[in-house]
Amino acid sequence: MGTAVVVGSGPNGLAAAVVLARAGVRVTVLEAADEIGGGTRTVEAIVPGMLHDQCSAVHPMAAGSTFLRSLDLGRYGLRWRFPEIDCAHPLDDGTAGVLHRSVAETAGGLGPDGRRWSWLFAGPAASYDELSADVLAPLLRVPRHPLRLARFGIPALMPASAIAKIFAGERAKALFGGVAAHAFRPLDRPLSASIGLGILTAGHRHGWPVAAGGSRSITGALAALLRDLGGEIETGVRVRSPADLPRVDVTLFDLAPTAVAEILADRLPARISRAYRRFRPGPGAFKVDFAVAGGVPWTAEPARRAGTVHVGGSFAEIAATEREIHAGRMPQRPFVVVGQQYLADPQRSVGDVHPVWSYAHVPNGYRGDATDAIVAQIERFAPGFRERIVGTAVRTTAEIAEYNPNFAGGNIMTGAKTARQLVFGPRPTLTPHDVGLPGVYLCSAATPPGPGAHGMCGAHAAARALKYLRKIRES
Ligand SMILES: Cc1cc2nc3c(=O)[nH]c(=O)nc-3n(C[C@H](O)[C@H](O)[C@H](O)COP(=O)(O)OP(=O)(O)OC[C@H]3O[C@@H](n4cnc5c(N)ncnc54)[C@H](O)[C@@H]3O)c2cc1C
Repeated sequence: MGTAVVVGSGPNGLAAAVVLARAGVRVTVLEAADEIGGGTRTVEAIVPGMLHDQCSAVHPMAAGSTFLRSLDLGRYGLRWRFPEIDCAHPLDDGTAGVLHRSVAETAGGLGPDGRRWSWLFAGPAASYDELSADVLAPLLRVPRHPLRLARFGIPALMPASAIAKIFAGERAKALFGGVAAHAFRPLDRPLSASIGLGILTAGHRHGWPVAAGGSRSITGALAALLRDLGGEIETGVRVRSPADLPRVDVTLFDLAPTAVAEILADRLPARISRAYRRFRPGPGAFKVDFAVAGGVPWTAEPARRAGTVHVGGSFAEIAATEREIHAGRMPQRPFVVVGQQYLADPQRSVGDVHPVWSYAHVPNGYRGDATDAIVAQIERFAPGFRERIVGTAVRTTAEIAEYNPNFAGGNIMTGAKTARQLVFGPRPTLTPHDVGLPGVYLCSAATPPGPGAHGMCGAHAAARALKYLRKIRES
């Protein structure tokens, strides 16, 4: 059926490679790093034997990915592990908003706001598996389930701040706001609700699991399947120009559009090159992994049982910090995402010392050290945390970008999620995975449906490549 090269072995690169190999294409993946996996690598960063996810940690979108589920990756060792509580959002009064997989259980903890939470999520979560064919696809196309998509999509068009106003109490407002903040967008902008609604709906259907043994198990399983299908992976190969690419029928880039513009240079049509070079990164992340004796002593008890804890206080406070980082200013008390994957996957700990994963939202390219701000924010909701820290591993925005050039300035979303980039990806077109050269495609998280380890960007790009291969075979 032809030959292909995929540049980059992140979840999308490997997903694309698997789709092609399954169709009988001879695929080679070229990876710059010494290890495969991109944003799904897991390492022993602090204490020997203790496992830290270097990037992605918690996987509602991957667990709900129709593509990944179709591969039966359990055969290759991928096992999802579920924490008792999906996510907790502690507040200064010692209480917390608590997210369970069950909409009813979540609503039950939100007092009078419970009914509104159910109204927002019960229907979409129940039909998520049908809905995901539309949500996890380029948005500018004829939807398969227009009515269901409209039920989900109309709230998604709104600013997160408008959705938060539905709720009367702070627990529901903050719980929603913490998840909406994953968009790294000011929460008063149109469509800023969409990523939060997507994660919450997927989570209410499939939970917020972690991968047993670390997120590397996701790409480890994809790579094993790819090899079984005859695909090859070469690590330590950085593609800098077309001269570094073998002669093949189709080429897929699991890279940021700016990198593709650099590599393909004047081979790209000028208007596409301009669009790719103008592609905007969003704010950054500053990452700190901790080894913590006895775990984090959260005041709010549910946070001690939650796989993810959102640390940032009230909805208004999170909205203010997201506005600040968007404007390039570092807030004193940033929004921090904390991962306690070991609760669901105890093999990551060493005795009673546990790996605690965290990152703060910071301005793109932030040059300072946010470690103290992260510790202070956690300490605010877990007094005594500082004394329990046995070791830390820090990754600045520059180090995140060096580790993986897709995360420019520490932007872990592979591009700002502005309304335009969210809907279209790198350029306004109905075919966002095409780069404007026959047989060449973009398959990274910069394309729809966007970030996460769900592999859907890769699957969509590979479908375009297969269509092209069929066309040249028939001609
Ligand atoms: C700190 C952090 C936390 C995150 N948390 C989550 C989370 O909890 N849940 C979630 O779903 N997502 C999370 N993400 C996002 C997720 O990791 C990404 O959306 C996902 O990895 C994107 O996959 P990808 O295949 O598009 O690209 P990537 O994973 O970025 O992979 C691209 C690959 O291409 C390689 N490469 C780059 N340039 C070249 C070149 N010139 N030649 C050859 N190879 C090259 C890179 O080394 C890399 O391996 C997080 C990311 C980070 C950094």
